[in-house]
Amino acid sequence: MERMAKNRLIVASVRLPVTMTRGEQGWQVAHSTGGLVTALSSVLERQKFTWLGWPGAYVDEADRRTVTRELAKHGTSPVFIEQEHMDPFYQGFSNEVLWPLFHNLMERARFDRNNWRSYRTVNQMYADAIAKIARPGDVIWIHDYQLCLVPQLLRAKGLGCPIGFFLHIPFPSAETYRTLPVAEDLLRGLLGADLLGFHAYEYVSNLRMAALRVLGIESEPAALRLQSREVQLEVMPIGIDPGEIAEMLRTAEARKELTELERNYAGKRIIVGVDRLDYTKGIPQKLEAYEEFLHNHPEWRESTVLIQVAAPSRTGVEEYQNLKRSVDELVGRINGQYSTPNHTPVVYINQSVSRDKLAVLYRAADVALVTPIRDGMNLVGLEYVAARGQRGGTLILSEFTGAAHCMPGARLVNPFNTSQVATVLGDALENEGPNFETFAHMSRFVNENTSLFWAKRFLTRLEHLSGDPHHEAKLLRINEEPVLGLVKNARSPLVFLDYDGTLRSYVINPKEAVPDARILNVLQRLAEYATVYVVSGRDRRTLEDWLGGLPIGLVCEHGLSIKPPGGEWQDRTNVSGSALARFVRPLLEDFSRRTPGSAIEMKQAAIAWHYRGADPEYGSFQAKELLTRLEDLLKRRPYRVLRGNRVIEVRHEHVTKGSAVGHLLDRHPDADFLFCAGDDRTDEEMMNAIPKAWRPRAVTCWVGSRNVTADYWRESDASLLGELEAMIRIWRRGSAQPPAAGKGGRKKATASGPARAKKRTSTTQATASGRAPRSAPGPQRRAKKTP
Ligand code: UDP
Repeated sequence: MERMAKNRLIVASVRLPVTMTRGEQGWQVAHSTGGLVTALSSVLERQKFTWLGWPGAYVDEADRRTVTRELAKHGTSPVFIEQEHMDPFYQGFSNEVLWPLFHNLMERARFDRNNWRSYRTVNQMYADAIAKIARPGDVIWIHDYQLCLVPQLLRAKGLGCPIGFFLHIPFPSAETYRTLPVAEDLLRGLLGADLLGFHAYEYVSNLRMAALRVLGIESEPAALRLQSREVQLEVMPIGIDPGEIAEMLRTAEARKELTELERNYAGKRIIVGVDRLDYTKGIPQKLEAYEEFLHNHPEWRESTVLIQVAAPSRTGVEEYQNLKRSVDELVGRINGQYSTPNHTPVVYINQSVSRDKLAVLYRAADVALVTPIRDGMNLVGLEYVAARGQRGGTLILSEFTGAAHCMPGARLVNPFNTSQVATVLGDALENEGPNFETFAHMSRFVNENTSLFWAKRFLTRLEHLSGDPHHEAKLLRINEEPVLGLVKNARSPLVFLDYDGTLRSYVINPKEAVPDARILNVLQRLAEYATVYVVSGRDRRTLEDWLGGLPIGLVCEHGLSIKPPGGEWQDRTNVSGSALARFVRPLLEDFSRRTPGSAIEMKQAAIAWHYRGADPEYGSFQAKELLTRLEDLLKRRPYRVLRGNRVIEVRHEHVTKGSAVGHLLDRHPDADFLFCAGDDRTDEEMMNAIPKAWRPRAVTCWVGSRNVTADYWRESDASLLGELEAMIRIWRRGSAQPPAAGKGGRKKATASGPARAKKRTSTTQATASGRAPRSAPGPQRRAKKTP
């Protein structure tokens, strides 16, 4: 905990832990309670923090400063949301789409594009509010399904703080998730986080499958592998504060209430149910099961009571009003049929009950009946176990709750199987009674996995990520120092650019990744000022077809052959693909036949198996199998297996982008600035090959996100192109003369004016000293240059 305290924590949740209300004496603050507040309160006592969220009221412009000041006294900071956005964001999208869909109830989800728009707007407001207060060293923890886009929106701001996200509800199966019309956007939003936490491994597994099927992203159980970084996945079921419950039960008031309750139901078994009146809680199914139990067990009709608390929830929503009606009817039906003058079998409390009164109720109950049809975790079962303590008891728990994954002593049931629930209830009352041994297992979990433990665990993990070198890379902004100075002062710049994933985003069929007009234009104009190389894993023919008409250099097959600007292709090694065709191709062909949608690409000195077009899950499975087979096949042979983005490639060990970079730098001894961008492991080799002496004059940029090797990063190919365009503008401004007529890169040098060197002086001196020349900034508009 001490280590944790040095970082400030920024928490963001849809609601603040305090609510502002406007009374007669102005704005008043009321503290809220709830699982998250309880969980975080002990952590927050020991750590500097700011909690961001909606203050629970619409606040006029004129009052915002006062409200902000008031909230600041409680460590909170408001996100003011207008009503026009709040309703569609909160009710319209969060509660009417994500809530049912994430609880596997897709038929209840009602998607409306306007509501989605508001969801995006409000998520952006949160990201902006966080970015406004975040400082380096802070850690950011975002909560729940209402804020799924915030992680990515924050990442795009390049704050350099680790971003954690905890989902308090289930993550649905990939099949259900994919029905969401904005499945891709929402998932990308979540994957902006460094750490994603869930209550159960089932949800992690569902998310992994959704990432694979929706975005083609592969993963391990503990991490999703993006192109340039990993998203850590953690199973961390939230807990409760058992000490608080014990304290509540120790008060004189609680003891009195307990005695009264036990006297009222003397000789009877008490079954307790505590739920919000929500359709995910399975209250009608529970009542039907209880009805069946009473029907089957006449002997228990007068000696059991089900005390069911159904706390009103979302009362303004029609669906919830309908639910209330059907629950009312069911309770009426059961009581109508089985009540006697001395006994009512269902005591139905359609009110919110305070936590201390609930503790008494739990303590008195022989059985807790917790049967949601779907629930992220469910705290009621845990609270019951804590309140019963040494008394033991029976927890009948739905198998579709997160709690079912960590309460080994519970009697698990399928809430849709009302007969099963009725039978288990009968068994619990007749045969079993409390089983102290299994109850002890549950007690141990509840007492060890407290809410404080949960919060500490998440934050320790998140803080650990802040020490990760991933976070040292800065967002590339060409117009900001120190990059701006390097670009301005460059007189003979070199630009090395990877193609796929860097200049052009990935597509299912690699042949379709043809450069668009913007890419061609950027390369063409860059070449007017710099020596540009596209350093790619693509074969010579493709590069020639797509980029051969530009005045740039090309490097194909990870460095196998190089074509300097305006020059001819030259092979760097004598490596040939014939050996590969002989002994690797048959294996790949076999896999290709067995994996529909996959294909082989034969290059000059490499062979690749692409499986982007295959079923994502099957493709990944086959890829793992193929890797094992290749490992055996290539033992003691001079070949390397490269695992790229849904592609496995085998090539000669001497052919790497790293060795190509060394070669190119040697070819350009007069170069005084290097810009290098890439997005995958082969590009890491390229960046790692940049000699130390070059580092002060090199700008390395990773596309997709931060990465260990590069100094800078940009979130997408489009934003990298934007920065390259900014670089061109700087160089153009530094150039006194307009471009000479003729094809770019083949023009005569026209250097003149204050920002230009009249004639290139020897830059080898500057290169050797590791400094950029200061006197004559800006590159020469390039003459024909064929090293
Ligand atoms: N709760 C309460 N009063 C009520 C009903 C429920 O204080 O009348 C509390 C209950 O003790 C538990 C929480 O609300 O702490 C419900 O949490 P759970 O995870 O079971 O379900 P959720 O309502 O969050 O979906």
